[in-house]
Amino acid sequence: MKPPAACAGDALDTAAPCSEVNYLRWDLSAQQIGELTVELIEQTKRVYDQVGSQKFEDVSYESTLKALADAEVSYTVQRNILDFPQHVSPSKDIRTASTEADKKLSEFDVEMSMRQDVYQRIVWLQEKIQKDSLRPEAVRYLERLIKLGRRNGLHLPKDTQEKIKSIKKKLSLLCIDFNKNLNEDTTFLPLTREELGGLPEDFLNSLEKAGDDKLKVTLKYPHYFPLLKKCHVPETRRKVEEAFNCRCKQENCAILRELVTLRAQKSSLLGFSTHADYVLEMNMAKSSQVVATFLDELAQKLKPLGEQERAVILELKKAECEKRGLDFDGRINAWDMRYYMNQVEETRYSVDQNLLKEYFPMQVVTKGLLSIYQELLGLTFNLEENATVWHEDVKLYCVRDSASGKVIGKFYLDLYPREGKYGHAACFGLQPGCLRQDGSRQIAIAAMVANFTKPTPDAPSLLQHDEVETYFHEFGHVMHQLCSQAEFAMFSGTHVERDFVEAPSQMLENWVWEKEPLLRMSQHYRTGDTIPQELLDKLIKSRQANTGLFNLRQIVLAKVDQALHTQTSADPAEEYARLCQEILGVPATPGTNMPATFGHLAGGYDAQYYGYLWSEVYSMDMFHTRFKQEGVLNGKQVGMDYRSCILRPGGSQDASVMLKLFLGRDPKQDAFLLSKGLQVDSSEPPAC
Ligand SMILES: [Zn+2]
Repeated sequence: MKPPAACAGDALDTAAPCSEVNYLRWDLSAQQIGELTVELIEQTKRVYDQVGSQKFEDVSYESTLKALADAEVSYTVQRNILDFPQHVSPSKDIRTASTEADKKLSEFDVEMSMRQDVYQRIVWLQEKIQKDSLRPEAVRYLERLIKLGRRNGLHLPKDTQEKIKSIKKKLSLLCIDFNKNLNEDTTFLPLTREELGGLPEDFLNSLEKAGDDKLKVTLKYPHYFPLLKKCHVPETRRKVEEAFNCRCKQENCAILRELVTLRAQKSSLLGFSTHADYVLEMNMAKSSQVVATFLDELAQKLKPLGEQERAVILELKKAECEKRGLDFDGRINAWDMRYYMNQVEETRYSVDQNLLKEYFPMQVVTKGLLSIYQELLGLTFNLEENATVWHEDVKLYCVRDSASGKVIGKFYLDLYPREGKYGHAACFGLQPGCLRQDGSRQIAIAAMVANFTKPTPDAPSLLQHDEVETYFHEFGHVMHQLCSQAEFAMFSGTHVERDFVEAPSQMLENWVWEKEPLLRMSQHYRTGDTIPQELLDKLIKSRQANTGLFNLRQIVLAKVDQALHTQTSADPAEEYARLCQEILGVPATPGTNMPATFGHLAGGYDAQYYGYLWSEVYSMDMFHTRFKQEGVLNGKQVGMDYRSCILRPGGSQDASVMLKLFLGRDPKQDAFLLSKGLQVDSSEPPAC
């Protein structure tokens, strides 16, 4: 299909002169973090005081909107220098100081977001100013600030504002603690080699000793997932699954209950019937009813598939119990799920994950991934030798636009687990790509933080295929951060609707399921051989393995999140157990409390976890409509269109507008449903 004219992949460079400075620094002591936090708060508050104390007749674009936007640019960078180390610093003292800084700054954020004096001047400006005298993005900024002001209740009576402010402060502190508890969790189980039966030798050799004949299994991803998939001792899997879903049970369960109550109170003060409706107003979905319909319809469609898959799993379990002389209890337990889903891949699709990972050494995957992204998006990456970073494992790359040679940004890769480090995979925006006070463009800098399998004395880091997928996914967020060319920090990078934010990176996951890209990022770590054709074909076919159960589980999580944020008094563990049984047909393990470990609920995804499934509608549509037709590796035009239509605007346009430009029409659900192994009903109205 011919790309729409407005999507032409030229003029990607901003007209503004570009400053290539990396303003970030990682050499602060715990004490300096504390001192600089106080300084940053004072500096920023002065700007707000100035804006808020102006006489109304003095209010202008420069004295108000631009002053706030400029302050936001330097504040964001400085704030990240102070609060990012809590997730990655190897020093516990620095992590603690950084968490404390984050708490102080979050409280300060609440204070500034509740400045009625500032809000009144913005409202006044909106009434007075000629809209056409402003650039379109400045109009959007103005409208957004007013919207956010109303969403903070700044148009309501003073005593209501005070209540909202106090709730917001409590909420931000509770969220920080919830995730800190999970990151700092050091629970491990001492297990014997016998108890760890079925796990490969390289995995066992990578474990630390815990006493004479025991090995230390932590609950970090590179231990938890391989164990749940491969350990053939059900009792071990049960113990580990139970411990995993009991992490931080006491403290986080209490926090979660408080979060849910406070969120409901705040939303009600603001005139919304539920917290979900309050949150969703800013998303593509707009209301909790639309989300409920989306999830229910999908659950209904996936139900028969889930039933079939459960039947297959039960058969496998029965056979395994007979083979190993174990009692067959006739049901699927939570600790059986991943084990038998893995068996489905191995037996029905003949994919041997342990053999497969030998073709995915970290170095080869990284090289292939980086080269694919460079070609696709017209970029050039260079490793910066001797860069100052926060840990010896971390690498820094400089990114140029290949056509102009201009630096557009930098990214850090921090790929292996460490004690006290952020436990999932995520992309952190550190320096927003936007205009600075003098009109020059600030380059965007982001960090990808992940917890991939570490190298061992005998072998390099060998990635499971799902780790390769995660790598592609998170790197997609990095590219979104770097390629966006917004004017305002508020619209930089991934600051798009939360139920669209996953779409760009989900779309890039498709590359790890296509033959040519897979060949580019794989090579046997000892022999240097390419993946045998047969194994490659089987891997690609196995994308359909367990789709029903996998997606039903995503629906369970999305519905738990919606349930907690549409009811005033829902018990998280009970709600989870009920939905697991009802939708997945697999009971939650008694005594566990999965929601207490569900970081998204306190990590900015409250009432928005559905966004993972929702944005897949768009990621699949974009992939199948354009890339699959025009080429996943040699589709230079489509890659540049993608960069200019989807990544370049950041949040400066609505997602629906960007999608229409890139697709040449409104989005449809067809490709999404087909990717889940479902039929497409042609009479169905367009999605979302
Ligand atoms: Zn993501």
